[in-house]
Amino acid sequence: MKKLKSITIGTIAMALLCMSCQSDEKETLNASEKDETARLSNSMVTKLWNLSLNPNYAERYSFETPEGKVSEGWKIEDVFITDAQLESNSANVQVQENPDNGKLYRVFNRVNVPNQGQRTLRIRGISLLPNIQEGLRRAIANYNNAGLKIKFQVTFGNGFTNEDIILYQIENNSLSAIATSPANGNPGRWMEISNGSNRFNINRIEALLTHELGHSLGLRHSDFGGINSCIEAGVVGGPFDQGLRDPAPANTFSVHIPGTDSNFDSPVRSVMMACSKDLNPPIKELTPEDLIALRWLF
Ligand SMILES: [Zn+2]
Repeated sequence: MKKLKSITIGTIAMALLCMSCQSDEKETLNASEKDETARLSNSMVTKLWNLSLNPNYAERYSFETPEGKVSEGWKIEDVFITDAQLESNSANVQVQENPDNGKLYRVFNRVNVPNQGQRTLRIRGISLLPNIQEGLRRAIANYNNAGLKIKFQVTFGNGFTNEDIILYQIENNSLSAIATSPANGNPGRWMEISNGSNRFNINRIEALLTHELGHSLGLRHSDFGGINSCIEAGVVGGPFDQGLRDPAPANTFSVHIPGTDSNFDSPVRSVMMACSKDLNPPIKELTPEDLIALRWLF
C-alpha cells in the first residue's frame, strides 16, 4: 500500500509537470519507487488529511525567507507546512468532518482578534512588480470591506521590519504563490509569489492573492478532498489523473467552519476553492459563503 501511494503521488506530480510526455511515465515511476524515502509515509498521509491538506499533491519543499532562513517541509498545492508543524499540529486533532466540497475549513491555530475593536495586520510587499502590487491592493480591499475585526494595512518597499505578513517574489513563470499558516495567534508570516504572475490578467492576480491571504488567516481549501475546482478549471483531471487520486478517507478530521454548508449553491463557490484563480471567470472576491466563514472567525 505504501508503494502504491508513492507511485500515485509520483505519477500525479509527473502529470502536472508534463501532461504530454506519456512515454516517459514508466521511467518516472521507477525513479519514484527508488526515491521512496523522500515520499510520504502512510502516517504522514493521515496527518495531512487530518489537517485538511490533500496528500495527493504533496511535494518536498525548502521554504526560504527573504532573510535566507530555510525551513524543510511539504508544499501541498499552494500551502507550505514545516515538518515540525505537521507533527505538532496533527498531534491534537479532535473534530471529525467529512470533506464533501460544500464547506469551508480552517486550521487549528487561530489568528487572535480582540473581543472588542479591531486588529490591524501590517502587510509588507517587497520589491513587487506593478500588477502584483495592484493585485495585492485589491485583495486587501476585499477583506477590509468585509466588516471584519481584522483590517489589513499595506506598505511597499525593498526591505521589511516587523510587519505581520511579508509578500515577496520568487523566480517562476506561472501564476502561483505559496502561503504559510497561522502560528502563535498570528497570521502565516511568509508568502511567496511567482514573479511571472505579473504577466497575468489583474483579476486573476487579485483572485490569487485574496486566496493566499485566506490561507495566511487560517482558511484551508473548501474542496480539498476532491479539488473539484481544479478539475472544473482543467488544471487536473487528464488521463493520468483519473482513478489515480486517493480520495479523502471517511474518517478525515477537518475543522468545518459553522454556517458554511449546502444552504448555498452546490458545490459551494469560494475564494478558497483550490483552483479559484483558474476558473473562468476567476473567483476574485469574497463570496457569501466566504463572508459567513470570515465573520464567524473574525
Ligand atoms: Zn490554496
